[in-house]
Amino acid sequence: MFSLFFALKNLNKNLASVSWVGDVYKRTDLYRLIDIDPLGLGPERVGELVRAAARLGFDGLNITHPCKQTVIEHLDGLSEDAALLGAVNTVVFGADGRAIGHNTDWSGFARSFARGLPDAPTGEIVLLGAGGAGAAVAHALLTVGADRLTLADTDPARAAGLAGTLATRFGAARVRTVAPGGLPAAVGGADGLVHATPTGMAAHPGLPLPVELLRTGLWVAEVVYRPLETPLLAAARAAGCRTLDGGGMAVFQAADAFRLFTGREPDATRMLADLADL
Ligand code: NAD
Repeated sequence: MFSLFFALKNLNKNLASVSWVGDVYKRTDLYRLIDIDPLGLGPERVGELVRAAARLGFDGLNITHPCKQTVIEHLDGLSEDAALLGAVNTVVFGADGRAIGHNTDWSGFARSFARGLPDAPTGEIVLLGAGGAGAAVAHALLTVGADRLTLADTDPARAAGLAGTLATRFGAARVRTVAPGGLPAAVGGADGLVHATPTGMAAHPGLPLPVELLRTGLWVAEVVYRPLETPLLAAARAAGCRTLDGGGMAVFQAADAFRLFTGREPDATRMLADLADL
């Protein structure tokens, strides 16, 4: 779903019908879904929505696919991480009226990883999928100290593009790419695997890699969170892998955005439980 979320406080609305994210807001807060598809708007029109949200008194927006890059030219500034990633998932309107873009996708994955796989070895990690989620995961893993990432994508140009950006930021020795044919050797020598393609969602059923590559001793982290239990996670657990689902990244990116909007600390544990109940 292509969507924008508007966050507005000080409105006396009952949030019972609002999504699970809304449930963590006070009853005086409003978290509203704006879907650009029914509005007949393409991602290039996101600037109009940013200006409208500011004019209507919203405190900020969460930005989702496919607007995370197109929104940037309509903002007044970027956080350091958003600038490095070239992607924005959170916009905060300051008291001075300036719209500042942030990226909490990467910090969301980093917090989820630290919580769910706290002592996982990070010497060699294979990252499957070099799109938007893959870029955030790569930034997170290299920021928290992973020694080396191997990027694999069915679109080699995407893997090469992300590897080039990461090499500039973190050093060429810490990033490499592998063609699909090289995946067995790469996974065979890895401590962990992060899956960041849409495979496993209802529209993209199946496994993103041959099940034979999963083995005891390899940890497997998923970014897909709809469903929370993907075929990859089930196969990985059956093969003896430690696993991390995509729900933590979804919750912690929302929690970090909530803090930016409101200055308050959300109850991430409750958010995780609510997500599991959906
Ligand atoms: P995207 O389209 O930007 O990137 C996906 C990439 O995967 C593409 O480069 C594509 O070529 C590649 N790919 C597809 N199938 C592959 C395969 N079998 N092997 C290797 N590469 C393959 O998509 P995205 O925005 O990065 O989203 C990917 C998934 O991440 C989606 O399911 C999305 O819902 C999820 N996501 C989760 C969170 C979260 O908070 N948990 C956040 C963002 C995105």
